[in-house]
Amino acid sequence: MSDIKPKRREVFSVHCNHCRRTTNHRVLKSCIHTGSDDEQGFWWRTAYDMLECCGCNEVVLRRNHHFSEDPDNEITFFPPPASRWLPQWRWSLPVPINSLLAEVYTALQADSLSLAMMGTRAIIETAMVRKVGDHGTFRNNLQAMEVDGHIARVIAKFWKLHSMLEVLPPIALTVPMLDR
Ligand SMILES: [Zn+2]
Repeated sequence: MSDIKPKRREVFSVHCNHCRRTTNHRVLKSCIHTGSDDEQGFWWRTAYDMLECCGCNEVVLRRNHHFSEDPDNEITFFPPPASRWLPQWRWSLPVPINSLLAEVYTALQADSLSLAMMGTRAIIETAMVRKVGDHGTFRNNLQAMEVDGHIARVIAKFWKLHSMLEVLPPIALTVPMLDR
């Protein structure tokens, strides 16, 4: 069952990704879906509110789901609230690394931490290949960086020991041929 309601006058305090803080949002449009299972005695209600930031006019969708057997409402925002923003210095990076960095931030935003970690590894490997050429494996590239004096021995040792680098697949090989 669906019920589309006209614009309401309520104002909610919600995080705005553009303003980067909690701001007042007005409701642009609302839609409520309800349902029930009479046999089991369950019911559910999902309200969708399209909210507009009163400061910058950015729009976000809030989904508020209530299930009769769960005392807590499940509230979700699309897009989800951002806690990290791409740094300005990204524009000083080579294009391929800049693109990978944007993907890492997108993965973090979506709480895809494994993907973010793999992306970070790809950034490191891409940077190494650009600097010392491709020596086949992450470990060899790292060694070349150390031999050429681009990184300190202690850092190379740390990265070699870091389990992340040992267990992840060679992500850099899956990245399209980059501007090397
Ligand atoms: Zn805003």
